[in-house]
Amino acid sequence: MIVVCPSCGAKNRVPENKLAEQPQCGQCHAKLLPLAPIELNEQNFSHFITYSDLPVLIDLWAEWCGPCKMMAPHFAHVAAQNPQVIFAKINTETSPRLSQAFHVRSIPTLVLMNKTTEIARISGALRSTELQQWLDQQLHS
Ligand SMILES: [Zn+2]
Repeated sequence: MIVVCPSCGAKNRVPENKLAEQPQCGQCHAKLLPLAPIELNEQNFSHFITYSDLPVLIDLWAEWCGPCKMMAPHFAHVAAQNPQVIFAKINTETSPRLSQAFHVRSIPTLVLMNKTTEIARISGALRSTELQQWLDQQLHS
């Protein structure tokens, strides 16, 4: 499957059974699946989402948002345990057009995408266990 490098945007072909083995980008040698949230913005979002074969869970957040900050370590924790899902953060203040495109009404909002299709979304801060439960439900329904 194709994994888009979060650092340089190169499209890497990775066999599904190698996803758990910390594959590296053929171009810049960055970790393709860092098991930590990556940053998406107005420059790299559309390329990344269009070519990534893995589902992408996006956290739309802002610096001033208390619940967003509360959730951040939980989001990172769950990211480390789900190598088959890309965890991404979008700063709604520095990427206002993306925020608008997602019709974000409140933050944090989590949006699960498969390519350019939105599969599910949920608003409000979640703890690790709640987030993992919600993610499992979406992926297995
Ligand atoms: Zn790269």
